Amino acid sequence: MSETVDAVVIGAGVVGLACAYELAKRLDSVLVLEREVGPGREISSRNSGVVHAGIYYPQDSLKTRLCIEGNRRLYAWCEAHDVPHKHTGKLIVATSAEDEERLRAIARHARDVGAGELRLMTGAEAREQEPELRCELALHSPTSGVVDVHELIASLVHQIIEANGMVVYHTGVDSIRKTEGGWLVQTTDSKGSEMELLARRVVNSAGLSALDVAGKSGLAEAERPWRLHPCKGSYFALGSGAPKTRNSLIYPLPSGGGLGVHITADITGARRAGPDAEFVDTIDYSVDESRVERFAEAVARYLPSIRPEHLTPDYSGIRPKLVGPEGGFADFVIRSPESQPGMVHLIGIESPGLTAALAIGARVSDVLA
Ligand SMILES: Cc1cc2nc3c(=O)[nH]c(=O)nc-3n(C[C@H](O)[C@H](O)[C@H](O)COP(=O)(O)OP(=O)(O)OC[C@H]3O[C@@H](n4cnc5c(N)ncnc54)[C@H](O)[C@@H]3O)c2cc1C
Repeated sequence: MSETVDAVVIGAGVVGLACAYELAKRLDSVLVLEREVGPGREISSRNSGVVHAGIYYPQDSLKTRLCIEGNRRLYAWCEAHDVPHKHTGKLIVATSAEDEERLRAIARHARDVGAGELRLMTGAEAREQEPELRCELALHSPTSGVVDVHELIASLVHQIIEANGMVVYHTGVDSIRKTEGGWLVQTTDSKGSEMELLARRVVNSAGLSALDVAGKSGLAEAERPWRLHPCKGSYFALGSGAPKTRNSLIYPLPSGGGLGVHITADITGARRAGPDAEFVDTIDYSVDESRVERFAEAVARYLPSIRPEHLTPDYSGIRPKLVGPEGGFADFVIRSPESQPGMVHLIGIESPGLTAALAIGARVSDVLA
């Protein structure tokens, strides 16, 4: 006879943990299963750590709605649980006449979707904030900021345990089978021991492996029409000789499947340029030093005094994109198939997934609990 729990969440990234926390508030026994040695070892610790405002995505998309709601929830969480964060604000900069038109359109769109306070600034006004900047026009978003992702993850784990939930590491989910009363979840730990438990509900929050896990749950191919296009984003650290910036977040206009090579400063003030966007076939987090010239060129469009020697390879992350290099928009997928009662699959949770995590958690809990 296997142990029975109210809910299993597969994956201890920021999204799975947020789901588990919301479920643990409503259910007696919630278990997070994570194959890695600790929480947040994949996408969740390999990002820009930016709290987005919800500026870029289509009006009725989940990305817009959950980002705007998630932004509010995330700042409130940080206040309530002492997670370091900063309301840095963000500048999106246009460096050509063509960019100016695009930026004005982005500003109109962002106002229409309700992406927080926004102000268009002339190049001269932007330079009062950032003297080294070269731009014709900038959009200032004061509700954008940065969060200490590691502290956020630690606080989520802590709160899950406070709510009587559990997070188990070194435990990979091998298969999920429908059975009477729920789902039979089979796992193997790092020593090779197998375990089986019965879960009344299952959340598939496996990030880059979410489509594989959906397959393992027996979801018919016709019901999982998506294809994953892993898209690597590398970061280079800005050394002390790099041009000074005061506002920590400076973004160009979005391009090539990402938000453009931007400049962030994390909670400690360490500055980085990145991420770029490179579609890949394998998961390899090493940063290719030879990309430095391209990075310097991308940043020099808005920070002209940057030089390749100011940049050193830092880290990279991989986005679980549902569109390939041909581009186009793909929304978050939050799917509870009719054929799989008690199951939710979270697919394609790329940016702004960190910002949206707590809103995704609340939504999943509404569906399941
Ligand atoms: C380069 C980059 C920059 C980004 N910047 C931002 C940003 O600034 N702001 C923002 O809001 N968002 C950003 N994002 C997006 C954000 O980081 C992600 O949306 C979010 O972290 C996804 O979290 P997750 O929990 O879904 O995935 P993950 O953190 O990857 O968690 C999934 C977990 O599932 C586990 N797992 C997988 N398969 C199994 C299995 N079979 N059994 C057990 N465990 C399993 C994995 O080990 C992993 O820990 C960025 C992403 C990238 C790649």
